Amino acid sequence: MATLLKGTAFITGAGSGIGQYTAWAFAKHGIKRLALSDINPKALRTTVDELKNRHPDVEVEALEMDVADEGSVESGLSRTVSAFGSLDIAVNNAGVGGPMKPTAEVATDEWKRHFDINLTGVWLCERGEIQRMLKQNNRGPREGRGTIINVASMLGLVAASPTTPATAYVAGKHAVMGLTKTDAVMYAPHGIRINAMCPGYVETPLLKAATASGIMDGEIKKTPMGRLAQMEEIADAIVFLASPLSSFMCGAGLVVDGGFTVQ
Ligand code: NAD
Repeated sequence: MATLLKGTAFITGAGSGIGQYTAWAFAKHGIKRLALSDINPKALRTTVDELKNRHPDVEVEALEMDVADEGSVESGLSRTVSAFGSLDIAVNNAGVGGPMKPTAEVATDEWKRHFDINLTGVWLCERGEIQRMLKQNNRGPREGRGTIINVASMLGLVAASPTTPATAYVAGKHAVMGLTKTDAVMYAPHGIRINAMCPGYVETPLLKAATASGIMDGEIKKTPMGRLAQMEEIADAIVFLASPLSSFMCGAGLVVDGGFTVQ
């Protein structure tokens, strides 16, 4: 298999679901230096152990990191660059489901805590990544180098249905799309390429409770392909966004949703 990815990659929320499968897919596609972070060190250990099992030649830095905490993000990114000497690919994936409630029922604290993780968390990581990427390859007007992928959602593009009223989640993911587009425009002239991944419903631990309760049945029926995405299908699309195969994509949201949003 041709090597698609080079340099150092950094992934948040790598202890589970999409982040975990992305870590493994990055190693499969040639990454040799991988900084993996998660708020849950035990979950992260599982990802790292399996990675080392499959790809013993990949160097891994395991970082216990809370994306909602500025100091934690800064220390994770600094450790990445000091361990590996560069930051070439960053995947801002960590996120939570948030309250499954319509606006009238959401408490202010729940709303704020959700945004701390799903929006401020992405922004804190993106800011730190851009600051470091701008310092790479300091040779003229395109002084930086690197690519960033924010894991948004198809719910960053369309509304949730009344049967799955994830109001805060949808608002946060729309905001992640705004951040992605604006930073993409701002930093493309500086050699930094920024895009978003917009998955439909994916069979990950995050969706497990909702799937078990039956609340997802209607959503699966509404999906033309009639099923949830598998984690590998999203990880492979993130590999594409991180690789030179997507070299002219900038500020885009790559939708992988089994046809949900085209209806
Ligand atoms: P998941 O729950 O399986 O994994 C999320 C990981 O993020 C966990 O390991 C968790 O410990 C970590 N995390 C949570 N809060 C954190 C914090 N404050 N700091 C650092 N790490 C933290 O979820 P997933 O389904 O793989 O979701 C990953 C991303 O994909 C999220 O941003 C989610 O919104 C997005 N997404 C998921 C789906 C889906 O259907 N599962 C669909 C579209 C988008």
